[in-house]
Formats: sequence, C-alpha cells, structure tokens
Amino acid sequence: MTDGPNHGFDTMLVHAGTEPDPATGAVQVPIYQSTSFAFRDAEHAAKLFNLEEVGFIYSRLTNPTVWALQNRMAALEGGAGAVACSSGHAAQLMALFPLMAPGRNVVVSTRLYGGSITQFSQTIKRFGWSATFVDFDDTDAVAAACDDDTRAIFCESIANPGGYITDLPAIAAIADAQGVPLIVDNTSATPYLCRPIEHGATLVVNSTTKYLTGNGTVTGGVIVDSGTFDWMASDKFPSLSQPEPAYHGLVFAEALGPMAFTFHGIAVGLRDLGMTMNPQGAHYTLLGIETLSLRMARHVENAEKVAGWLEGNEHVDAVTYAGLESSPYHHRMATICPKGAGGLFTIALKGGYDACVKFVDSLELFTHVANLGDTRSLVIHPASTTHRQLSPEQLEAAGAPANVVRLSIGIEDPKDLIADLEQALAAAH
Ligand SMILES: *Cc1c(COP(=O)(O)O)cnc(C)c1O
Repeated sequence: MTDGPNHGFDTMLVHAGTEPDPATGAVQVPIYQSTSFAFRDAEHAAKLFNLEEVGFIYSRLTNPTVWALQNRMAALEGGAGAVACSSGHAAQLMALFPLMAPGRNVVVSTRLYGGSITQFSQTIKRFGWSATFVDFDDTDAVAAACDDDTRAIFCESIANPGGYITDLPAIAAIADAQGVPLIVDNTSATPYLCRPIEHGATLVVNSTTKYLTGNGTVTGGVIVDSGTFDWMASDKFPSLSQPEPAYHGLVFAEALGPMAFTFHGIAVGLRDLGMTMNPQGAHYTLLGIETLSLRMARHVENAEKVAGWLEGNEHVDAVTYAGLESSPYHHRMATICPKGAGGLFTIALKGGYDACVKFVDSLELFTHVANLGDTRSLVIHPASTTHRQLSPEQLEAAGAPANVVRLSIGIEDPKDLIADLEQALAAAH
C-alpha cells in the first residue's frame, strides 16, 4: 500500500492501495484480466502456496486489481486488511464463515436490509447456523440474546431503509463482554459518514454495489477486518486459533497476527467458496471510490432538503430521516455520523398501499428499481418488492410496512427532485 492512515480521508480515496503500474506506469489500476500468474520458479510457487510469501496465484483467490481495492478499502475503514467478494451478500456470508459452525448462532438486529433478513432468517439454516433477531435499541435484550453458542453480533451502522442509527459503542461493549466480534454492515453510511471500527466494530462489511461504486454499474462487497480481535483468547474460533489441516497445520492467528482473518478469507474462504470479485468490477469500484466524498456530501445535502420538504407535505404521514430533528435517532448523529445521516429514508403515505403504488408509478425523475446509492434518485415500495418475502411483523420491525416508500436521493438538482415528488404525491391522492 502506497498510502495509508497518515493521509486524510479524501487523499486516501484517490491514492490508498494503488501506485502507478510498475510494468507500464499506468496511473489507473489496470484491469488485470488474467486468471493466473506465472511463478518465478518452483520455490516461489511453494512459498506462495504455504502463505510464506504474499503474491498472486490464481484469480479465484486474488488478483492485482482486486488487491488494490482491498487495500484501499482497508485504509478507508481504518482496518488491517480486507477481502473483496462478488456481492454484499457474499461478503456477509464470508464474514460469518470462519466464525460459525453447525449449532452456532449470530445475534442480529431486526432493522436490516430486507435481503439480509432473508439470508439470516432462512438461508443460513442450511449450514446449521441460526440467527436470533433482536431490537438493537434494547441493549439488555441484545445481551440477553447472546448464549454460549453465539459467535458474532451483526447490525447496520445506519440501517436501510428506516433511518435508524445504531448505538455502535453500546453494542460493541456487549460483543466485548461476550468475547465475540461485532460485524457492522456499513453500506448505507459508507466510511465517509461512519467508520465503525472507531466505535468498536471488529469487522465491517460493505456492499460496494451501492454508494462506493456509486453509479449502478457492478455488484460487489468487501469485508474489512480491524485486526484487533484476539482469536486465541477462547476456543470459540477454531478456524483461526487451531491448526488448519488444509494448510499443513498452519494456525492463522499465530502465523498471520492482525492479518489472520483477511488471509483466512482469501486462502480458505475464497479458495473453497469461490465468491470472488472479478477484476473489471474492482476497477469500476476503484473509479467510483475516488469521488465518494464529493458524492456523499451532495447526497446528504439533497436528502436534508428533500426530507425537510416532504415532512411539511399534507399527503405524507411520516418521514424517517435521521437528519431531521423530529427523528428519534437524530441525537446519535453527533457520535456515529456527524457529517450526515446519508441519502436514504422512507416516507409513510396517507392512503396506504394503493397510494404508494400510484405514487411510485407517477414519479418521472425517480427511477423505480431495487437498488440504492446511485447518482440518480431511486424509489421503491419495499412491501411489494425487496421485502416481499417478509411477514407483516417482519415488515414492521424492518421499518417497511405497506404504507411506506423508500427513497434513495441522488445528486441531481434538489429543486427538480422536489417538483417531481410534488406532482407524484398530488397524482397519488
Ligand atoms: C444492497 C445491500 C446489501 C447486499 O448487497 P448486494 O451487493 O446487493 O449483495 C447488504 N446490506 C445493505 C445495507 C444493502 O443495502
């Protein structure tokens, strides 16, 4: 890494993890469109395979373009190392993989992205893992939900889509007392607004599909490890603290110290599960990250204007933007995300489900898609789309009941966004 924690955040966005290409001097990280990388000789190959030397072997593990993105993300989140994956959901599974085993559980917030609720409540059961869902505003309930089989606690920094800001230091204290890592999904906030490791998180997962790439071109995810968790402190994490048979008995935590989780992710997780990011995706994400601060500042400025206007509209029952003083989460901004509450929020419409559907269909500038964090403004009605699989109780808990529409505010002229919302609200009522 040519640039690290010594520089300011905006400098790291442009420089961290990259340097002019040693072969050609190319200033943008080239797309290393190669599945494999030649060994200098048999000894070099042996060292790479024994993890005695770091280098490139085969792109399922890592690739120079992906490596640059991993290093940039580690710098931006203030961690020791990072593992890039094919999507945000892949990053979530890959974060749990070294920690979990059949019979083990993860304690998770009820306020999560709809896809994460499905992943945790349904799909992980196939591995013999389970998730216990708790209201993370009730810290006693979070502590009470942890038991001897708990191997991680999982929440979002700013939860999608309801504008909940999690009290990360309070949750981190519970994780510390339990001796398990806190994993924070930082997708809605991005490291521009919130750096969860500074609040006690062990692992940070980001869907790079959203604000980090920022232009709706590629899916991807990254896990950043703080490098500070002591995997040897208990017998809870044998993948990291016990000899690994597939690496001649190597003990990751002993041999690799603060890089143990990262190297396990690459050398075991990606090697055997194969949820790898491709170099072209990594290239687009590196380009997007260069302008993250400029875009996020504008997303926040626009969201504040639009949410403030919507709050005064006669057709709107509620606006759940934590940037508004009326939000019960507003007071947490000062510690968790002082630069703003992001660009995402929900509105509850008078007129319920039918008004929501008409409203979405009447918008002209906002695009109706299952995505967020794009430069363009986006809208979705979670109850009929992304959150369709959820029960009415789960919809309520996730902040997405039938009368609620989610807005992802883009970087356009806010006057145009307000005018579009105004005409669609009138048409829906
Ligand atoms: C989109 C999203 C995910 C999943 O990411 P993918 O890249 O779509 O797999 C996870 N968490 C949050 C908060 C998201 O917005």
